[in-house]
Amino acid sequence: MVLNESVAIVTGGGRGIGRAIALELAAAGVKVVVNYAGRSDKAEETVSLIRQAGGESIAVQADVSQAADVDHLVQMALEHFGKIDILVNNAGITRDGLMLRMKEADWDAVLATNLKGVFLCTKAVSKGMLKQRSGVIVNISSVVGLSGNAGQANYAAAKAGIIGLSKATAKEFASRGIRVNVVAPGYICTDMTETLPEGVQNEILQTIPLGRIGKPEEVAKVVRFLASPESAYITGQVLCVDGGMEM
Ligand code: NAD
Repeated sequence: MVLNESVAIVTGGGRGIGRAIALELAAAGVKVVVNYAGRSDKAEETVSLIRQAGGESIAVQADVSQAADVDHLVQMALEHFGKIDILVNNAGITRDGLMLRMKEADWDAVLATNLKGVFLCTKAVSKGMLKQRSGVIVNISSVVGLSGNAGQANYAAAKAGIIGLSKATAKEFASRGIRVNVVAPGYICTDMTETLPEGVQNEILQTIPLGRIGKPEEVAKVVRFLASPESAYITGQVLCVDGGMEM
């Protein structure tokens, strides 16, 4: 229970990797604010799972691409738990398409949620973290942000942008005891990947040295490590959780 009594916000914590992160942190003694955009039932399910296991959690609706929503999210976290020690920027969407056919609206939507959302949430929690001179931010990027991917120019740009944003923030906040790191998952079994056609899924499998799809829990354990004092000397790093896909 190295994280006992800490408070975390996990964006997009209603399902998939975000839910696994929320549960993993809660199991380490963290009080978790589960953010969601639209599906309150899913977020409440995550909260129930945490409470059933004896943890503390609330669900808060906020679209991370909207500054007013993000301010409300942080306000609710502070009202309920009094501080924020950990921010996990996990919320993300895809709007795939080849460059020539990619609509401007699909570019804007992916950049707004996946990159601007990280900026807004980081900015909103940073005031308190700077004041308390401690904090941990873990941003969920993707191996696609490192290697690129045909049909995902918007997503790859946003995920690469997260890496630059994280390193800049890590440098800016280091002297104030705040660490910022990035987890870059490979191919993880969630709603996001289940919609891919079987042919595409099989093609991706061929590119994974460990020969299997990853589980949300395998990403969550790495996030917990980066959120804990066990990683006290690590900041500004990108850690791939990808079965060897990126090497
Ligand atoms: P998912 O679609 O299951 O979950 C995404 C979550 O983000 C959902 O809870 C959704 O409601 C939330 N969300 C979307 N837009 C939001 C907004 N504007 N405001 C607040 N919440 C919002 O996907 P997932 O696979 O669990 O993905 C989680 C993160 O991991 C994403 O950032 C994704 O890009 C990243 N990732 C996933 C994979 C993978 O293979 N699944 C690989 C690399 C990176």
